[in-house]
Amino acid sequence: MTRAVFDAHADLFSKSVEDGLDWIDDAPRFDASSDNLLRGGVRVQVASVYVPMRKDGEEATAEALRIVGVAADAVRRARGFRRVNTIGQLDAALASGDIAVVLGMEGAGPLLGDPDRLRLFARLGVRFLGLTHNHANACGDGCFAKDPVGLTPRGRAMVHVAEEEGVVLDAAHLNPRSFDDVLELSTRPVVCTHAGCRALLDVPRNLTDDQIARIAASGGVFGVDGFPGHVGKDRARGDLDDLVAHVLHALEIAGEDHVGLGADFDGIPTKLSGFEDASRYPALFSALSARGVGETTLDKLAFGNWMRVLRGALERAPGNGSFPTRDCGQP
Ligand SMILES: [Zn+2]
Repeated sequence: MTRAVFDAHADLFSKSVEDGLDWIDDAPRFDASSDNLLRGGVRVQVASVYVPMRKDGEEATAEALRIVGVAADAVRRARGFRRVNTIGQLDAALASGDIAVVLGMEGAGPLLGDPDRLRLFARLGVRFLGLTHNHANACGDGCFAKDPVGLTPRGRAMVHVAEEEGVVLDAAHLNPRSFDDVLELSTRPVVCTHAGCRALLDVPRNLTDDQIARIAASGGVFGVDGFPGHVGKDRARGDLDDLVAHVLHALEIAGEDHVGLGADFDGIPTKLSGFEDASRYPALFSALSARGVGETTLDKLAFGNWMRVLRGALERAPGNGSFPTRDCGQP
């Protein structure tokens, strides 16, 4: 049987909106197409809500809502997929064999620093939140920000609102000062959904061993991505063995309870040879197994660790995270 996978980061619906593609009708254009997800054994997919920086203000909020709408529409039309925002919905999807789709906002630009917008998006299914993308926004500084100061007062407030709402804080893309602020302020597990190990490839988007260890100490998960620019031999290219090296290093630093996968399919311009799309997870597990990673560890890193964190967040979601339903008909 194909090993169950929980992938913490793919850009399928953001790409759909950005490139004007339909996830179902234009399936061959997607790395994380429904066929590839099925073949790869993916059972839970976090789909990013990512709005490019050139769109800001209300336009960014509108674009994020558009992505949520496109995701809802595509999942409804696809066979064997469900959006989930409660533990009950998650368990029901898994029991039925459907693939569960959760949303993760990549960069809080669309929130405009407004906690009520986070509360709204949480109710629409956003369960992961990266406070920044690569640059600065109302919440703080990303990993490529100039003269970074870390989180703004609004960003600091947003950490608490995310925890109240049962939204997992995602440290991918944060500047080191913002990273420190999030880890210091948070009381819940903090994750990094998609990055590589800085010890193996020194680029600003990758996490240092110290950062990976602090994610683990918070109870969170470090998700290794599949972008050659983060895990390749020389940033320009790489293969499955390079990805294996990053996963093994992460396991060494974080321990088997705190490593997962967030391949970033449909969000990366180049691919690792041997790990080109979401159908390739079994090849990764075979390669890890050949390097001596045991079955229990593989189960945790493929699925169990992210499930623990998501469940913990959904347990805290007010109203258990139920999607808004029709009103009761009263005036
Ligand atoms: Zn990203």
